[in-house]
Amino acid sequence: MGDLANCPRCNALFMKGAATVCPACVKKEEADFQTVYAFIRKKVNRTATVDDIVRETGVPEKQIRKFVKQKRLHPAHFPNLTYGCEKCGRSIREGRICEGCNQSIQTGLQREERNKEFSERIKETKKDYGRTYYSLDN
Ligand SMILES: [Zn+2]
Ligand SMILES: [Zn+2]
Repeated sequence: MGDLANCPRCNALFMKGAATVCPACVKKEEADFQTVYAFIRKKVNRTATVDDIVRETGVPEKQIRKFVKQKRLHPAHFPNLTYGCEKCGRSIREGRICEGCNQSIQTGLQREERNKEFSERIKETKKDYGRTYYSLDN
């Protein structure tokens, strides 16, 4: 059995199961998808951007990006369909964050590693001089 939840689209109460929105909105999303898909499957529209689709179909940008994220609209087939990086909002085509954010996370981790090593060394050094240091302090 699902839990009772508010639909994020229309705020109606519904039983949350496999779907993340209420049954009425599932139908609406499906209709939106058909509209978008009918538009972009035309050869001339293959390279449309999300902005183009919003303008031409009236389907909200958020909804289109959701389809891309769900891979219902696959960037491999439609090269200009992108969505925002979860950290900086830059347009990306796969994953959750962009290349730049991914790299800065990696660098951040490496720096943390180095800092840890550094403070370990300091601790070691302090241990060596510990006795002198403390006797001077007293
Ligand atoms: Zn709803
Ligand atoms: Zn980013």
